[in-house]
Amino acid sequence: MKKKVYFKTFGCRTNLYDSQVMMSSLQDYEITENEEEADAIVINSCTVTNGADTHVRSYISHVEKNNTQAKLFLTGCGAHTKGESLLKENRIHGVFGQSEKQKIDTMLAKEKPFYEPGDLNHIDDMVVDEFVGKSRAFIKIQEGCNFRCSYCIIPYVRGDARSMDESRILEQITKLAANGFGEFILTGTNVGSYGQDTKTSLAKLMKRMSQVRGVRRIRLGSVEPIQITDEFKEILDEPWMEKHMHIALQHTSPKMLKLMNRRNVYKQDKELFELLAEKGYAIGTDFITGHPGESEALWSEAMLNAVELPLTHIHAFTYSKRDGTPSATMKPEVNGKVAKARLHELQTMIDKKNYEFRTAFKGELDVLIESYKDGLYHGLDQHFNKIIVDSKEDLVGNWINIKKYEVKKDCNYARI
Ligand code: SF4
Repeated sequence: MKKKVYFKTFGCRTNLYDSQVMMSSLQDYEITENEEEADAIVINSCTVTNGADTHVRSYISHVEKNNTQAKLFLTGCGAHTKGESLLKENRIHGVFGQSEKQKIDTMLAKEKPFYEPGDLNHIDDMVVDEFVGKSRAFIKIQEGCNFRCSYCIIPYVRGDARSMDESRILEQITKLAANGFGEFILTGTNVGSYGQDTKTSLAKLMKRMSQVRGVRRIRLGSVEPIQITDEFKEILDEPWMEKHMHIALQHTSPKMLKLMNRRNVYKQDKELFELLAEKGYAIGTDFITGHPGESEALWSEAMLNAVELPLTHIHAFTYSKRDGTPSATMKPEVNGKVAKARLHELQTMIDKKNYEFRTAFKGELDVLIESYKDGLYHGLDQHFNKIIVDSKEDLVGNWINIKKYEVKKDCNYARI
């Protein structure tokens, strides 16, 4: 009988993808959904903030209480920051970097404790052709980041930006589309930098993807404002572009953007967002509140600016210190409660804008139904807005066009 392995994934989509690659590469072991019966547990960790490291540590303590037989393995970003110390403390059996994930069988079979951080310049050549239980497929197109935002540890643990081979990506998309996937979400550490090292571009890749039979909608993970180039602007009206873009601003005060060592400039961000809004796009952004130096005055300015932007979605975080980054030593720090209150203020404002956007939109919704919960279907439309559908038919995995629906505060609602 094969030994059983349980995968515990923390963090972002890139980690989800990496776990999927490990699962697809596994041959000598069986995957289990039950961590208590596992002989091995692979922790695919995140290290974005000091808090993320704490989550990994508490998960290890939790396993130590509930399953004393399992050998623990650590991979993901945390392998580089916390791997050595956890190994020294004898809390894990082995540490391996992302570059080793396709060798998962070899890693799990190692008898002696080991530390193999791997190669930060590695790039996958793996083709994952099915994402179990999901109707949308996440495709990793690049790895690493050349930016050096002051608060961020990611470039140090994921390396510089490098792109996956285009023919591999298209092969992956072709297989997935043949398996019934219609929506593709392009992910990576810094998706918009795709192609810079291989003399191509994100826009070219997306155009080629759209020509694959079965590809219906393409969505991008988070991109940086400066990556929306003139070439990219030319594909904005294509029917296969999801009418939603997530563009990371992180802040809207020019002074804060400088402190955070960001490459975007508020004035240009505003022009870009207005162009996208004119073309009917819903626009989301990432935002960090409470970064050191965010005074009351700078916050007020940021809020005034954010109100001016045609935003519909937000992924806001309170600043969380990450040792080893320039921001970790910046002063004055912002009190955690103040940072939370600012996040709440921003979130409330964007929720209102989202409701206004949905109310003002008079067209049809192109919806992919993703799940069924408590007697209702849940899906996302072309603007990345949630819709709940009441229906007698089994709709999971279906694309439906909805003409009549009700706009409620939290989401849209339809009966079909
Ligand atoms: S763009 Fe900035 S925040 Fe994003 S991964 Fe790169 S350094 Fe980190």
